[in-house]
Amino acid sequence: MSASTQGAGVRPFLIGATWTTGQGTPFESINPANGARNGLIGSASREDVDLAVRTAKAAQARPEWRAMLPHRRAAILHRIADLIEAHAEELAERQMRENGKLRAECVAQAAGGAAAYRYFASICETMPAEVAPSRGDHLSMVLYEPFGVVAAITPWNSPLTLESQKVAAALAAGNAVVLKPSEFTPTIALRVAELALEAGLPPGILNVVTGLGAETGSALVAHPDVRLISFTGGTATGKAIAREAAGRMAAVALELGGKSPHIVFADADLDKALQGVLHGVFSSSGQSCIAGTRLFVERGIHDAFVARLVQAAKALRVGPPDDARSQVAPLSSFVHRDKVEAMVDMAREDGAEVLAGGSRPADPALADGAYYLPTLIGGVTNDARICQQEVFGPVLCVMPFDNEEDLVAQANDSFFGLAAGVWTRDFPKAWRVARAVEAGTVWINTYKTLSVSVPFGGFKESGSGREKGFFGIRTYQEAKTVMVGL
Ligand code: NDP
Repeated sequence: MSASTQGAGVRPFLIGATWTTGQGTPFESINPANGARNGLIGSASREDVDLAVRTAKAAQARPEWRAMLPHRRAAILHRIADLIEAHAEELAERQMRENGKLRAECVAQAAGGAAAYRYFASICETMPAEVAPSRGDHLSMVLYEPFGVVAAITPWNSPLTLESQKVAAALAAGNAVVLKPSEFTPTIALRVAELALEAGLPPGILNVVTGLGAETGSALVAHPDVRLISFTGGTATGKAIAREAAGRMAAVALELGGKSPHIVFADADLDKALQGVLHGVFSSSGQSCIAGTRLFVERGIHDAFVARLVQAAKALRVGPPDDARSQVAPLSSFVHRDKVEAMVDMAREDGAEVLAGGSRPADPALADGAYYLPTLIGGVTNDARICQQEVFGPVLCVMPFDNEEDLVAQANDSFFGLAAGVWTRDFPKAWRVARAVEAGTVWINTYKTLSVSVPFGGFKESGSGREKGFFGIRTYQEAKTVMVGL
């Protein structure tokens, strides 16, 4: 491995086999739990991004990767999984320092990252091509080719899993990748890329460019040799990326925001529903695209259920991510905490009632971190701004509903369509609602249950395309028809 060190004390990024601090202005990584500096990170300029994409393109075109037999490619992906598992504690610690997630969740996500590499390694080795029914004297085949260079752009909330599921699938499909992680969680991708080189991935097949979205990210999106942009992040950024990509007909896979309805019918197991609702919105401090942030409770049980919820939300232990007793950790950055705070103030201005939380914790021990209390908002209708806009924080809006028809209309009255949850003992009713709700994932009597083996993505403005599942490999491939005259 070679390295250039033009910026002493600056964490370099990876182009090919070269670690470089780049030509951009380095930026600071800050621990949101206490405001401490994690370090200075190199920033990739437009020229650095150009070099990364050209390096990826050249590496992908070489038979060493493009023509590598699937079981050999799979073996490399399995070795990456082995190394992620061997370094799980270290990777989890890194993520915890950068986005403030609870340690236990970070450890689970490191395991999830390794699982994504194993899953796509298996698909790589077993993935079939097709022989289509013949409509004449010829053999019709459908083959699946890599795009070439894939740009992967990721957010800060769950880099250990989100980056692995993109990169593992793109590599299994035979692409080369240039990954731009969030400026708030820059080093997980760097460490995994280092492990990937150790695992035998040919240099240039996975490149990581750190930097700011408006500079490094937009240079990557605009690069003419990037053939697919796989983006996870906010809907506004996703739309801007889709517009740019359309100019040269580059493909996009977009996993965007959500404002997911979480539904509790009067006949549900209310103890389980209560736990599901709490977990659905307050785990990860609400910084989850699939957080169940609009709670609809059947009117007959609304007041009693909300009273229990208020009590339970107030009882959640807010504390440092490395304290095993903590249930709600800080938000991922101070700037994001300010945004969440401003949105709760906006709800107050609109006449909402704050039933729990609605402020920073009073505990002086937490004063240096980006903490915000689990917050419940009542007295709103679904058209309120706080019910329509994504907060991406520990904020739950509660509303009553009268019947199934009213419920489905309210649940679908959103620009988003990422996920939904339904709690009821009446399975036919659950089934009807699950079919009627416009969402990429629907949970019945559970919430936020995730698996790499099922497709994930959004309806409406929550995105386009799917990741994960067998279907997920096709996101990173182009179908090609080959017909042989007989
Ligand atoms: P952003 O859209 O702000 O950023 C996502 C990534 O895009 C970051 O790496 C960012 O860089 C980069 N970026 C920003 N602007 C540009 C640009 N003009 N061109 C190219 N890249 C750019 O989202 P957040 O990081 O704030 O993440 C939160 C959002 O992500 C929420 O809306 C959430 O719902 C969504 N999300 C969706 C998921 C899903 O699967 N559907 C999963 C997780 C999150 P930088 O960090 O430097 O700004």
